[in-house]
Amino acid sequence: MLWLRILSILLAYVKTKYFLKYRTRDQLEKYQMKRLAKHLRYVCKYSTFYQERLKNIPLTMTMDVLTTFPTIDKEIMMDHFDDLNTMGIGKEEAFHVALEAEESRDFEPMINDVTIGLSSGTSGNRGLFIVSEKERNAWAGTILAKLLPQSIRSREVIAFFLRANSNLYQSVSEGRIQFHFFDLLEEIKTHIQRLKQLNPTILVAPPSMMRMIAEYVDQGELVLQPKKIITVAEVLDPIDKNYIEKVFNQIIHQVYQCTEGFLAATCKYGTLHLNEDIVVIEKEWIDEKKKRFSPIITDFERKAQPIIRYRLNDILTIKEDPCLCGSPHQAIEQIEGRCDDIFYFNTNDGGSLPIFPDFVRRWIITSAPEVREYRVIQYQDSQLEIQMEPLTEHMKEQVENRIQSFLKEKNSVIPTLRFSKYQPNEKGRKLKRVERHGAF
Ligand SMILES: [Zn+2]
Repeated sequence: MLWLRILSILLAYVKTKYFLKYRTRDQLEKYQMKRLAKHLRYVCKYSTFYQERLKNIPLTMTMDVLTTFPTIDKEIMMDHFDDLNTMGIGKEEAFHVALEAEESRDFEPMINDVTIGLSSGTSGNRGLFIVSEKERNAWAGTILAKLLPQSIRSREVIAFFLRANSNLYQSVSEGRIQFHFFDLLEEIKTHIQRLKQLNPTILVAPPSMMRMIAEYVDQGELVLQPKKIITVAEVLDPIDKNYIEKVFNQIIHQVYQCTEGFLAATCKYGTLHLNEDIVVIEKEWIDEKKKRFSPIITDFERKAQPIIRYRLNDILTIKEDPCLCGSPHQAIEQIEGRCDDIFYFNTNDGGSLPIFPDFVRRWIITSAPEVREYRVIQYQDSQLEIQMEPLTEHMKEQVENRIQSFLKEKNSVIPTLRFSKYQPNEKGRKLKRVERHGAF
């Protein structure tokens, strides 16, 4: 029923936008714990997996109690899929429905009112996610509240680029808001034509696609004046952020969301804040200075497939200066990348030196400021491949000197460096500028 759907989207919108006005961190944490206690009691009632594992949930929850609960990850979630979800959906059936929909691309994978989603990954390692109708509506309302530049009453034309799983939803209207979906696998020329016709007020796309659109604008082949630009789904590298901001002459907004949850969004100042009104995020520190962490997330809104102390493999860095918006939600400097993309070098005394993606970025950007595009890959034997555009002898020399002196200072064995011209990203593939290949 459409009216029911719109009503529940509106409810979530109004709640997020107007009613969650805690001023202090303390008030926020109290709110979280109250919601969490209620949520955990629900989960224990309907999920066999948690019935067995979460005993004695106190009336008043605290972080100390939460941290005694077991953590899960994608593997555990998939191994216990049938017992863990609260909708009685079996893994086999869900996979079957999802894969069939993906192949035919003409229907949305659903069992009863529950949407089935597949996360990317190698064939044996794909995650299966389920979301109820109610959860989908709440998600839509929350995302609108956090991202619409004005109110829900203003007219907006949103161009949304995503890897489409189906041919449905080419265009959808929700009141005064029109959504137009663009399939990332389509030709860029087709996108540009459609953008010309639609003249969107809000652009939502992964940074690699946003950059391509910006290049058309930069070259005068496309005229666009969106009110808001939002990047999703890929790490926003400073080199792309700066370029897109310069071309459109405005702040770039970001949404950090994955199949596991809607985790962060930018405020009007462009600062990413964790969505602590719907998730509790524990910080697992991964550097000595306690600047970088991997999030452990507990979503207190998701009931169909509970996400409780779910370990994510991402690297987030804390923003130390307070944000001008005054939100008590934790501010994030950047989403640096995946833990899998931390580089490792052998040290001369037989140890191993981890180098975070941000350092690798700075090696390139600071020693070759004229670089427009780059990619650095570390291979299993710790060799580095460095792709740059443009690529001159002088740039090679600068980058090589920088890397060598940095690693020498850390007493590391110097790897072989291989330079080549920048290879454009394959269509439909996520852009990673810093990447490690192969497991160690
Ligand atoms: Zn802020």
